[in-house]
Amino acid sequence: MTDCLFCKMVAGEIKPDVVYEDEQVFAFRDINPKAPTHILVIPKQHVATLNDLQDKGLAGHLLQTVAQIAATEGIAEVGYRTVINCNNEGGQEVYHLHLHLLGGRPMTWPAG
Ligand code: AMP
Ligand code: ZN
Repeated sequence: MTDCLFCKMVAGEIKPDVVYEDEQVFAFRDINPKAPTHILVIPKQHVATLNDLQDKGLAGHLLQTVAQIAATEGIAEVGYRTVINCNNEGGQEVYHLHLHLLGGRPMTWPAG
């Protein structure tokens, strides 16, 4: 999708701080981090929201990629949080599906 910020990253038109990439997924550091580790994991294909995610294999791969990156970031054992904001009341600002990986500090609950 030409006017999508995250699709432009996948296409190489905008260059984020990439931490992982394979055929299906792409991961980069959030530009406005909410924790010492704040990484976004996205599908390379444009999927607007979690409501639009049809591919169960891709869903599993996204989740496993989050866990794999948590391990390489050294936060898998102490713990981390994964968040998917969906649509307006879920707090979604960029309409290309992304999983937030947050860690490096204790998380509070409930989320705001
Ligand atoms: P959400 O509110 O769930 O849609 O989250 C969107 C996230 O994208 C926010 O945490 C932003 O800080 C992040 N973001 C926006 N623009 C960029 C960018 N150019 N590079 C990296 N992260 C970005
Ligand atoms: Zn997109």
